[in-house]
Formats: sequence, C-alpha cells, structure tokens
Amino acid sequence: MRSVSILGATGSVGESAFDLLMQSGGPARWRVVALTGGRNVARLAQMARALGAELAVIADDTLLPALRDALAGTEIEAAGGAQALIEAADRPADWVLSAIVGAAGLAPGLRVAERGGVLALANKESLVAAGPLLMGTAARTGATILPVDSEHSAIFQCLDRNNIEAVERVTITASGGAFRDWPLERLAHATVAEASCHPNWTMGQRITIDSASMFNKALEVIEAHEFFALPAGRIAVLVHPESIVHAMVSYADGGTLAHLGPPDMRHAIGHALHWPRREPLGLPRLDLAALGSLTFRAPCETRWPALALARQVIASGGAAGAVFNAAKEQALDDFIAGRIRFTDMAPAVDRALAAAAGRAGFGASPDSLAAVLDWDRQARRDAAAVRGVAGQGAA
Ligand code: NDP
Repeated sequence: MRSVSILGATGSVGESAFDLLMQSGGPARWRVVALTGGRNVARLAQMARALGAELAVIADDTLLPALRDALAGTEIEAAGGAQALIEAADRPADWVLSAIVGAAGLAPGLRVAERGGVLALANKESLVAAGPLLMGTAARTGATILPVDSEHSAIFQCLDRNNIEAVERVTITASGGAFRDWPLERLAHATVAEASCHPNWTMGQRITIDSASMFNKALEVIEAHEFFALPAGRIAVLVHPESIVHAMVSYADGGTLAHLGPPDMRHAIGHALHWPRREPLGLPRLDLAALGSLTFRAPCETRWPALALARQVIASGGAAGAVFNAAKEQALDDFIAGRIRFTDMAPAVDRALAAAAGRAGFGASPDSLAAVLDWDRQARRDAAAVRGVAGQGAA
C-alpha cells in the first residue's frame, strides 16, 4: 500500500488529487498520512474522514478547535499552525503533493526535500523563490521532485534525458487568460471579478488572476529555468487559446515533441502520482476531431509586461526570484483588495526588483529558508509602496 500526503488538500489542485485517490480505490488502496488546509476546516475534515487520513492540519491555528470538533469520533489526529504543516511534511509518506498556494508552500516542500522524499510540486512559487535551495537540497539528499504544473509535466514527459544537449528550446503555452482579446486601454479598468474568470481552466482565484496578467506564465518560465536548468533564451512562450498543447520540446535535428491533453489538472497530478509507471486514469480523453483546429500566436509584451520581468529575473539570478515572487504576491493582494489597478501590478513588481538590486547580497542565491524569507518580507514592503502612486493615478 503506498502512502501519500497532500499539502493544500482543500484547494483546486488538492481537490483534483483527492478525486484521483478516491476514484482509484480510496482508503482501501492508499494510506493517507497527512492532509492539510489553510482555513477550510469543514472540507478538510470531510476529506480526512473519506480517506481515513492519519493527520489533518489546518494552517490557521485559531481554527484548530473547530477542526477537532469536526473530527470528533474519529482517530484522526488534528493539528494547527505553520509548524504543524512542516511536521506534516516531515511524516514519512512515499509521495507528497505540495499544492499550497504561494510562498507558504516553500517551508513544507523544502522539508520533504530535506528528508529525501518524493515531492510532487504544484507549488511553483517554491521553485521561483528558492529554486537553487530546493533543487540543491534534493540533489544532496536524493529527494525526487516531480513537476505537477501541467506545462512542466508536459516538458518532463517530452524530454529525452539521453539527449539533453540536443534540446534547442522548450515552449510553454499560455491560454492568454481572461483579457487576451481585450483592447489594451480597457486593462486599467479590469475588475477582480473579470480577472477571476479563466476561459479554459478551473483553478484557484490567485492563479486565475495570474493567468490574466501572465504573471502565472512568468512564474512558469522561471520554474522551467530552475527545474530543467535551461537558460532563458531556450524557454519560449506561445499563446494557445485552446489549452490543449501544454508544452513542446524542440531538438537540434528539427523535430519537436508536443504534449497534448484536455485542460484538466488530474492528468498531470495522475502522471506524478504513478510515475515512473503510466497507470490507467479514468479521465476525459482528447478528441481532436471534435476540436477541429488548434491556434497559436506570439505573446504581446505590451499587454503582458510580466514576461519581460521573468527574463530579467533569470538574467539577474541571486535573490531576484524570491523578490519577484513576493512582490507579485503583494501586488496581487493589493489588486484583490482594490488598493491598486490591474495594470499597477507589473510596475509594483518592477519597483521591488529595482529596490532589491541596490541591496547588499542581491547577487547571491539565498542559501537558507531564513534568507529567502528575509528577501520576501522586504520585497512585499517595496511592492506595497506603489499603492500611493496607484491611488494618485486612479484619482
Ligand atoms: P487554491 O487557492 O485553490 O488552494 C490553495 C491551497 O492552499 C488550499 O488548500 C488553501 O487552504 C491552502 N492555503 C492557502 N493559504 C495557506 C497558508 N498560508 N498556509 C497553508 N495553506 C494555505 O490554489 P490552487 O489549487 O489553484 O493552486 C495551488 C498551487 O498549485 C499554486 O502554487 C498554483 O500556482 C499551483 N498550480 C495550480 C493549478 C490549478 O489548476 N489550480 C495548476 C498548476 C499549478 P484553504 O482553501 O483551506 O484556505
């Protein structure tokens, strides 16, 4: 019986993983070590009961009494708080999915790498903020990191590891998000509700807005750089409104391998869950005849300035990834809270990167969690400082 843990079980990716476990035998097949949630006690308790989990952790520790109540009458252990999340990650399990959103996923994911475990990584922010630390830790301990982000899972599946030097380019596709066809002048007035509707994928609100701004793709370019050790010049982005081709790998002989699949995260999660085998998954199949055609176009960098910022981050190296991720999270918080406009997010991140570049130590990759978090805190302050500017602009 394989043992599994899901960090961020109550989110969109966590729900997809839960569905896969339930439809492939549930507790009769899987030993579920730990499930974690942020604030959604009711759903966490329901999932823990359904899968017979050994431990349920709620990140917001004020909600621990409510979790205990919801698990009353079961033998499921309940815990709360950031340290309990790390302890959940530390519990031996054959496979751990990191599906927490944002920088909060870094410490638990890093703990899995430190104990040499198998980390299925949906939390792209970990690689963006601390790629060298996470990958270096995994190399040292023998941990396995498997990509769950659909584009990176696609690259992973198309990559000929015996011919890495022959890889000319990887291309990750982007749907273009909610505003891909909006007139540019409308973008400054985009509302949170409008940015929160994805044309193809059903995902958490934050990644959906990041898709509209293309910050999600910017994170993914950096993620591909960190995960596959590719330079920025060999990572291309292509707008593909149908979200069927997830990524392509082009080789020196002119051949290109593409990965296709319906826009459903269960395919990428299922691939990582069963890797290195390919097991049957009871999921929708691709019907290309029904689709008829697939379209592609080059991304417009005026519409999506986040893409140029991603290349700047890769060129800078050092602490730039930690700064970029944190500044982006702060700008997104500010947009969701109505403090800045949609089009203020990229300038806020740019400003945080410029401020950080002037600080001592920027050129060196943070070599500990504490160092990453120091850059993270400062970057959030720098990005937040743009609020006044945005307020004046909007007035
Ligand atoms: P959601 O917002 O749907 O879910 C996030 C999960 O993290 C929830 O379980 C949430 O708990 C938990 N959480 C939130 N804040 C904290 C915190 N401070 N500490 C601990 N746990 C917390 O996000 P998604 O599922 O959409 O995305 C998860 C990750 O996967 C992100 O990194 C995203 O970029 C990545 N990803 C997502 C894809 C998708 O299709 N959704 C595709 C590819 C990658 P609760 O809800 O209980 O508060």
